[in-house]
Amino acid sequence: MIIDVHTHLNNYHEERVRNIDACLDSLQEEMAENNVDFALVLSSYKVTEHRPPTRAVVEATQGLPNIAVVAGVSIKHYRERDLREISDFLADGLVKGLKLYPGYEPFYPYDPRCQVVYDLAMEYDVPVMIHTGDTYSPQGKVRFAHPLNIDDVAVDNPGLKIVICHIGNPWITDCMEVVYKNNNVYADVSGLVLGDFEDKFEKYMLQQVRNMITYAGEPGYLLYGTDWPICRMKSYLRFMGGLELPEKSRDMIMWRNAAELFKIELPGMTEAARPTDMSHRNGSPE
Ligand SMILES: [Zn+2]
Repeated sequence: MIIDVHTHLNNYHEERVRNIDACLDSLQEEMAENNVDFALVLSSYKVTEHRPPTRAVVEATQGLPNIAVVAGVSIKHYRERDLREISDFLADGLVKGLKLYPGYEPFYPYDPRCQVVYDLAMEYDVPVMIHTGDTYSPQGKVRFAHPLNIDDVAVDNPGLKIVICHIGNPWITDCMEVVYKNNNVYADVSGLVLGDFEDKFEKYMLQQVRNMITYAGEPGYLLYGTDWPICRMKSYLRFMGGLELPEKSRDMIMWRNAAELFKIELPGMTEAARPTDMSHRNGSPE
């Protein structure tokens, strides 16, 4: 079973416009080719001809059994009615999480302006995914995207579930401490490469992820995601195989943690296979 918690229907080859249905067809093809059972599609913080609004992503994917939506919010530009629309989607189960893009937008995740988003997430008991680490665009400002910034949010909002996107790459050491220390923080491994992993880089990254698991313990906090179409699924699955994890840990990362966190019901998921104890924190000193 595989759940990819981080994909987009954005178009990153901006010399031509592809409509949302074409992007969705490509996603379905890529998923089928790689036996991916379920994917979360994250909408952007901005709306352009290459980046559809949340409403369009919800409409295009509604009724599909293998895709759900996480709504991107622009802290700089959201309007009250955008949040109202998202609340309606949350109430109807059409949106399964929220996403913020610090770094792409110049704000810290502990900025008081974000609290309205955190409160909304807690009200509907859905996680907030937060971009961290390198930005795809050189216009980004990465100090806002440092994973250590997430610690304040986690401590001040113990009822909020947070996903550190991209394991804070390249500040993976900081990310591992934040997930280790805070029970309510998870991390996804998406977006570590553009396109396919090249040998040397793959070895380097495998070691980083292994270090994280060694430090933070049994990976009840780690989620599989790719950042497709920025990264290719086949290469990403090979990368995950390279971790050579025991089956229990592999299952947690590849789907169990995500199914629990985002409340995803998969057709093949039996009662017995359903996640039970999700406390991912091992014994640790106060
Ligand atoms: Zn992404």
